[in-house]
Amino acid sequence: MNQLSHLVTGTIAYLSMDVAIDSDIPTYSGGLGILAGDMLRSAADLRVPMVAVTLLHRKGYFDQRLDARGNQLESPSKWSPENRLEPLPQRVSIGIEGRKVSVRAWRYPFRGITGHAVPLLLLDTDLDDNDPRDRILTDHLYGGDEHYRLCQEAILGFGGLALLRALGYSNVRVFHMNEGHSAFITVALLEERAGAHLKQGVSDAEIEAVRQQCVFTTHTPVPAGHDRFHANLIRQVLGERCAAVLGQLGVMNGDLNMTELALRLSRYANGVSLRHGEVSRRMFPEYDIAAITNGVHAVAWTSAPFCALYDRVIPEWRRDNCHFRYAIGIPLHEIRQAHAQAKKELFQQVRWLTGIQLDESIFTLGFARRATAYKRADLLFTEVDRLKQIARRVGPLQLIYAGKAHPRDEGGKAIIRRIFEAAAALADDVRVVYLENYDMALGKLICSGVDVWLNTPLRPQEASGTSGMKAALNGVPSFSVLDGWWIEGHVEGVTGWSIGAPNGRDNDAEAEVESLYNKLEQIILPLFYKDADNFTEVMRSAIAINGSFFNTQRMVFQYLRNAYAPGASSGPPLP
Ligand SMILES: *Cc1c(COP(=O)(O)O)cnc(C)c1O
Repeated sequence: MNQLSHLVTGTIAYLSMDVAIDSDIPTYSGGLGILAGDMLRSAADLRVPMVAVTLLHRKGYFDQRLDARGNQLESPSKWSPENRLEPLPQRVSIGIEGRKVSVRAWRYPFRGITGHAVPLLLLDTDLDDNDPRDRILTDHLYGGDEHYRLCQEAILGFGGLALLRALGYSNVRVFHMNEGHSAFITVALLEERAGAHLKQGVSDAEIEAVRQQCVFTTHTPVPAGHDRFHANLIRQVLGERCAAVLGQLGVMNGDLNMTELALRLSRYANGVSLRHGEVSRRMFPEYDIAAITNGVHAVAWTSAPFCALYDRVIPEWRRDNCHFRYAIGIPLHEIRQAHAQAKKELFQQVRWLTGIQLDESIFTLGFARRATAYKRADLLFTEVDRLKQIARRVGPLQLIYAGKAHPRDEGGKAIIRRIFEAAAALADDVRVVYLENYDMALGKLICSGVDVWLNTPLRPQEASGTSGMKAALNGVPSFSVLDGWWIEGHVEGVTGWSIGAPNGRDNDAEAEVESLYNKLEQIILPLFYKDADNFTEVMRSAIAINGSFFNTQRMVFQYLRNAYAPGASSGPPLP
């Protein structure tokens, strides 16, 4: 399979504002960063010639503490780039508000199973010769105001290209923008091509040449989620010349939508699940947008007990994720045993973090993801009394929650408080723990240690979702609203269960809540407590059917075939 990289000659440069490297390197905030990190891990495994660019995020996203009522307390993350990354000597500079801003990079190698490295370059402006205003620009991931964000995106796009060139990446065949934050790379490429005659504008041939080099993945299914910057701010920060180029491209209509800039300048664009592709085409009807469904890096997200089991019974799985298909032959008791061990490890950690000892024999639901309104983490608590009755009548249950709300997302913070309130109201009947500071390590523990993975997004806002895929690799079935990846991964009663009907209406919370309680009461809990073999069969099918597909190895193959291969196109923009 290593030969698949013959589909591309020349390097692929992957740009992402958010990249999850490791639990103790706080350069990520959630799904987008996790996806980027897993993509790079699999690209390294497959020996794809790739280099990636992000910002250093010296103060990270933030660390989360929760008080007794669930109020979120935020502090900057502490980490030392010196201890984890290699500083590079090159310096480049870009213009911000007419000031010259020096940029350097730190390097982190993602090493694949055969040792091949995909380097990640983390851009940094905290240099002595920079103005104090500019030294802090690479500190906070998704922090600051619109101006700060625009400066960061300029560093990623313009600084990213300059640094790649300074490091000798002259033969980049594809620039892959992971979400619109990096879309200024297209303008940087145009400026590079136009050179001295940029003053007279760029030619159609130059625009097309850049377009042939660029690939774009959108991750946002709602219009409000797309980055926009006011034209005046663009002029102020990036100058008249850049504003003129954007004007010529026809993407600056009062303000600049970064998604439109990326779409306009990409020969291939995709959403991150089949449904999200459809939603994106509806949102941007003038562009042809394909779909490549997300995945997760199998080795990174599989718990130690399941790694040991797979190494024994499907030993090729690390090199070739297709081998998860053969998990269908693993004896049920082995699946049960590995899961019991993962559950125990999670509960030990819960006890260590909270002092609470959960009961390993009790059915445990998990829910961990960004706390934001559309994810509806509190949907399960719509009728607290009903939940109590279910637990009394059918069998006990306990719940594990985690997730950070963006510091400016008041709706997300309110959801955390509501979970705390519900936890108090349920105290005698259903145990609820909320773990602080959700990160990769906690994500892996929770996804692998609970019995069923719950997901309740408001359709169609979950572009893909990935934590349910992590759960599947660990034999944990999903119980989820049919949105994002789950529309593809769901086989009712085989890989898990849907909340709501496949052809149910969007925005029908009432029907979803009804379905949630009914299935919990009538199907899932009885299966868990009274029919262990059939429950374990669902666990096993989740591995065989979903683990074998929803991984980043398959996903990288699809990017190679559909997006990066010479001439690949999702179709020209319609007239
Ligand atoms: C997997 C993961 C996510 C993304 O989860 P979704 O289900 O896609 O929302 C976010 N944060 C962390 C720490 C994760 O491990």
